[in-house]
Amino acid sequence: MSLDESTVNRGLQPMNSKNAVIMMVDDEPLNMEVIRIHLEEVGYCNFLITDRSTEAIALLKEKRPDVLLLDLMMPDVTGCDILAEMQQEGLLKDIPVIVLTSSTDAATKLKVLELGATDFLSKPVDSSELVLRLQNTLAAKAYRDQLIYYDMLTGLPNRRLLLERIDRSLKQNRADCCQVGVLHIGLDRFKQINDGLGPSVGDKLLKLVARRMSECLQSSDLVDRLAEVDPRNNLARFGGDEFAIFLPRVEHIEDIAFVARRLLDSMRPGFTIAGQEIFVSPSIGIATFPGDAVDRDTLLKNAASATSYAKENGRNNYQFYSTEINARSVARMQMESRLRRALEQQEFVLHYQPKVDPYSGRVAGMEALVRWDSPDYGMVYPDRFIPLAEEGGLIVAIGNWVLREACRQQVEWHAMGLRGLSISVNLSIEQLNNQDFAAILHQAIVSTGISPDRLVLEITESLLLKDAERHIETLHALKAQGVELSIDDFGTGYSSLSYLTRLPVDELKVDRSFVVNIHSEPSHQAVGRTIIAMAQSLGLRVVAEGVEQVEHLDFLVEHGCDLIQGYYYSRPLPKSQFVQYVQAVHKGRVYLKALPRLERGSAPGI
Ligand code: C2E
Ligand code: MG
Ligand code: MG
Repeated sequence: MSLDESTVNRGLQPMNSKNAVIMMVDDEPLNMEVIRIHLEEVGYCNFLITDRSTEAIALLKEKRPDVLLLDLMMPDVTGCDILAEMQQEGLLKDIPVIVLTSSTDAATKLKVLELGATDFLSKPVDSSELVLRLQNTLAAKAYRDQLIYYDMLTGLPNRRLLLERIDRSLKQNRADCCQVGVLHIGLDRFKQINDGLGPSVGDKLLKLVARRMSECLQSSDLVDRLAEVDPRNNLARFGGDEFAIFLPRVEHIEDIAFVARRLLDSMRPGFTIAGQEIFVSPSIGIATFPGDAVDRDTLLKNAASATSYAKENGRNNYQFYSTEINARSVARMQMESRLRRALEQQEFVLHYQPKVDPYSGRVAGMEALVRWDSPDYGMVYPDRFIPLAEEGGLIVAIGNWVLREACRQQVEWHAMGLRGLSISVNLSIEQLNNQDFAAILHQAIVSTGISPDRLVLEITESLLLKDAERHIETLHALKAQGVELSIDDFGTGYSSLSYLTRLPVDELKVDRSFVVNIHSEPSHQAVGRTIIAMAQSLGLRVVAEGVEQVEHLDFLVEHGCDLIQGYYYSRPLPKSQFVQYVQAVHKGRVYLKALPRLERGSAPGI
């Protein structure tokens, strides 16, 4: 038995008959137009129409419609020829066919039924009769599909449906050179639960597990990550306590591990059945195409053998079939679990990088940059652990700590005599999306006593642009607390000018990538000049980051860039060294190259 395209693509639920793909083959186009108009009137909307019977089989193979309305009398290839050929083709045999014939001859009718037609209608077609027959045919097909392709207990697609989807996807991906992932899932100790508590509890548990997994796969960040396909549609029950998820387009192998970790997390809470709490964990095996296998059966076999390995490895974990990927993934998971403890073990520290006013040669402020001083990994830089923290849902807690610690430090330094320095803090987009953030900010300001106009919140341009409309309101709410806002890594996200004017920002930070060659690369010079000029016209402060060489500084100062941050003046420093640095500069022991401001009269008031 075969599977039509719409069932393959549709996902969990049986087809809504109005979305059915209706194919018509008739040598007389007008007949088909009339039928199409009738059917559109009652809500059908997907039609495939051809008046060339010679092309019908190819079209059927390619599109696999839900139903075929077939004329009998056609030149070259007749309706009977098409029926006969469909019987020979395994994949076409099960497409229901309603034959439309002007023949009243019983022998012809018998013949088409013998050739596999589902039903026939006399021409000229009575429209209400056609609608009725079509409904019946599609309902019967949907019911049959449900029986054949879905698991009765959980309602999930069954093995057969998933196999067909994998087949189709592998064919396509061979052409696209795209990766495919299969997660094979076994429930740990399910047999003991089933034997101990009885099969009816076992069945209920399987249903709840199916629902829990399906909900987990629906979470928006996961769907975002797997962009094109809703992974929930490709969750299947393979029978017994075995499930599988098929990910048809995987950009990064790490995305598969992400799905596996999510599933493991989702299964941690117990399931309540008849007042009893039951815990069951999954063991997950992962195999990829084309890395681990180039055909469907090997792909599944390898995923299943990785599941056995996961079970041997203590259950409740996931394993890749490939040992190399596995080692990397395990290392990453270990790091994430250490990261989880890092906050309570007080392993985070802030370093501070000066922002220098190049016209006065004084330190105007600093950017707080978080580091993880880990007993296992040494000093870990944010590029390595911030993505992990974001993925593991830890970034908001870490970011809140950074915010508060940075404010506290600024106040302490102010009290020590390093007055007037502003402190910049990087915000992750997750923090901005967090509804409580305005309250958290308020709390940080009040509890540390920082003057809010000394606090600058940096938000990366590209992240801000992703959901600009929504963020505009949030940013106004933050701005209302008196803090300053800065757009970080500016120039990489292609902000439009009109959009910038709608954001309540105070500062733009030119991305390092433009600064690197700003003294020599004409296109970077153009970007640098444009950003500075644009900022000036909007009354915004411009900070250049990543300034390493005096040539960078000269160019930026010549064009009126307000503040300079970069190794040229100083690397990010631990707090004690930062204090020494600022004191030395301000006491004149360290002379920072200060240049006259050429383009604008006065220094910016930071
Ligand atoms: P960013 O906010 O653009 O920070 C500037 C980065 O450039 C810092 O790297 C800094 O050390 C580096 N840098 C500064 N001057 C120079 C230079 O002259 N040459 C070169 N090659 N690099 C320079 P770091 O500290 O590794 O931070 C990387 C990124 O991590 C930051 O980029 C920021 O996006 C993120 N980050 C840092 N701290 C936090 C934090 O507390 N929260 C969040 N959400 N993100 C943070
Ligand atoms: Mg920054
Ligand atoms: Mg930056």
